[in-house]
Parts: sequence; C-alpha cells; structure tokens
Amino acid sequence: MTRAFAAASSQSPLAPANIARREVGPNDVEFDILYCGVCHSDIHTVRNEWSAWPTVYPCVPGHEIVGRVTKVGSKVTAFKPGDLAAVGCMVDSCGTCPSCKESLEQYCDNGGTVFTYNGPDSHNAAPVTYGGYSDKIVVNEKFVLHVSPKLDLAATAPLLCAGITLYSPLKHWGAGPGKKVGIVGLGGLGHMGVKLSHALGAQTVLFTTSPSKVADGKRLGAGDVVVSTNAEEMQKHLRSFDLIINTVAASHDLDPFLSLLKRDGTMVLVGAPAHPHPSPTLFNLILARRSIAGSGIGGIAETQEMLDFCAERNIVSDIELIPIQGINEAYERILKGDVKYRFVIDMQSIRKSV
Ligand code: NAP
Ligand code: ZN
Repeated sequence: MTRAFAAASSQSPLAPANIARREVGPNDVEFDILYCGVCHSDIHTVRNEWSAWPTVYPCVPGHEIVGRVTKVGSKVTAFKPGDLAAVGCMVDSCGTCPSCKESLEQYCDNGGTVFTYNGPDSHNAAPVTYGGYSDKIVVNEKFVLHVSPKLDLAATAPLLCAGITLYSPLKHWGAGPGKKVGIVGLGGLGHMGVKLSHALGAQTVLFTTSPSKVADGKRLGAGDVVVSTNAEEMQKHLRSFDLIINTVAASHDLDPFLSLLKRDGTMVLVGAPAHPHPSPTLFNLILARRSIAGSGIGGIAETQEMLDFCAERNIVSDIELIPIQGINEAYERILKGDVKYRFVIDMQSIRKSV
C-alpha cells in the first residue's frame, strides 16, 4: 500500500489514507515523490466544483510532482533508478489520434486523456487515478519528464502545471519581443505567466485585484502592474494588448479586459472557475475582431521544452514549502489569495504520518 492524503467527500478535509498503486509494468517508471505543488484545480476537484467532471471519492489530488526513480520496467529506456523524474497533469492518452501524434495529448481526439487524478484508471488499479499527495507513483514513461538537478527541486514542481499552463498559450499566441502581453491574477499560474512572458521578451503587464501584490508583480518581471478594480488605471491600456491570459479562479466580468485588446487581439482563458463568466458584450468582440480562447496545460513534448527553457534561464516558482499535515490550512489560504505564490508539499512529511 502507498501512503497518501485523500478527501473522503466534498465536505471532508484531506486526511491520511492508504491507496493501491499498480505493479511496475514493462513501460512504467516508479518513483518516490519528493515534492508536490498545490494547484487551485486540486481544490476545485476535492470540493467537487466542476459539474462537467464529477469527483470520485476518495480523491487524492496533486499534479505538480517531482521525485526520484526507484524502479523501471524492462522496456524503459529514458529513466533508470536514481534519476530525477517529474509528472504533471496527465498520465495517459490514446497515442494514435492526430492530437496525440502531435504530442498534444491533453487534447486527445478520442477523449483518451487520463488526468493524473480523478481520471479513469486504464490499469484498473483503482476506480480513478490518484495524484501526487502520496509517497510514490507509477506512470508510463511517455508521461514522465526530466528535470534539471541544477534547479531547486521543490520550486521546480509547480512548473509541471502552473508553468506549462502559461508557457503553452504564450508560445501558441506568439508572445515575444514587440508584443504586449497581459497576465490577469497573481496566483500560482499568474506568477509563472509574468516570469515566462518576461523571459520570452514580451512587454508584460500584470492585472491584480490585490494592491499588496504590485511590488511583487514588478519584481517577477512585469513592466507595469495595474490594479484591475481601478477604472482609471485600466483606461490607460485601452486597445493596446496583443494577448491577455486570464488565470482568475472565479467567475467575473470579462469586458474590462476585452476592451484592452488591440484589433485582432486574443484573451485566453486558463482559469477554470466553478461557475461560468457572464457573457461579454458582443460588440466588444465584433467591433475589433477580438477573440476569446481557451487553453489546457500543454503536451508532453512542450512540457519538456518548457522545463529545459526554465533550466537554461534558472526560472522556478516562488514557493512556500509545507508539510502535508498543513494542507487543509494551505487550501484556506489559497482561497483568500494569501500565498506567495505556490504552496509545495515536502513529501518527506508523509513518511512521518499515517
Ligand atoms: P490561485 O493560486 O488561487 O490564483 C488565482 C488568482 O486569481 C488569485 O491569486 C487572485 O489574484 C485572482 N483572483 C481574483 N479574484 C479572485 C476570486 N474572486 N477568487 C479567486 N481568485 C481570484 O489559483 P491557480 O492555481 O493559479 O489556478 C487558477 C485557475 O486556473 C484555477 O481555476 C485552476 O483550476 C485553473 N487551472 C487551469 C489550467 C488549465 O489547463 N487551463 C491548469 C491549472 C489550473 P490577484 O490577487 O492578483 O487578483
Ligand atoms: Zn494544476
């Protein structure tokens, strides 16, 4: 049995539990989890907030996982015991459809993307997949990433979801020199967005509802920080952005941000609140040929590209390291926007519990 922290229902706190992991198959990598980041998606899932994707209990969240390999299957070539390894939001996909063939496994055309937790467990070791709030994990090598030993490993964990979820749309919509990019929300995703947009060479502006985060926004790489509740500050940026990436975890009015896009500009929604945003004013789209788009994490090849990009530039997350026993309090602090800027669980702590 593997030690884990699980929620027994949408109202339960996370508590120690034992879970089953499958035996290591020929293509599998097994590793001890050293660190696991805490994403707002963990909270949405534990609390069963996404009606389109009901939570199966017990639920073991965690999809920003870094660890050290303990065992590999006979056909595994890219990892050996002792190597560092990482897993993000996916652990399987069909592998044969056009999206999988392009390494866009998160958009598997056969609906075959298996997410790291609360996904259908194709190996039937358990009713659903169990994530990284646990001692160890077994994953097909195709979904295991390499991380650089040069980087702080705990601060690397959030790259596996927060990092790639911002890197992928920044690249897809061409963020770089000469482009003006807005990042909405300075939480786990948003702070990686500011760092990565700046590193890609774009003129980067942070939008926050928290005046206390203005100085941090600039330190992280934003040339300008706008308190989005201040209409006067917002007016200064009308019709000026090529791209805005919205990471906010709650439903809100999109119009004030849409009107900041240039003609042909795009706002990409990556935040996934429990309730939909109110429909924006259509003329805000029509009269400037603006787009609203969505984007989901990133494929495996792009995740490795992002990890290598970050290793070359020494980019990691700003984290607060916590023991797993502090997870319920951490959730409450995330919900209040009180985290700078990602909690990461030191998984040594789970070996002292249960
Ligand atoms: P987070 O750390 O809680 O950050 C969210 C930020 O949104 C807050 O720090 C806050 O920033 C801003 N915000 C403004 N009003 C808010 C409100 N009423 N309630 C909550 N936040 C508010 O969350 P995260 O881990 O970055 O995740 C953000 C969202 O992205 C979640 O919905 C998550 O499920 C989703 N997500 C999507 C993907 C994907 O693939 N598309 C991947 C991972 C996560 P300010 O204080 O600066 O305003
Ligand atoms: Zn996540």
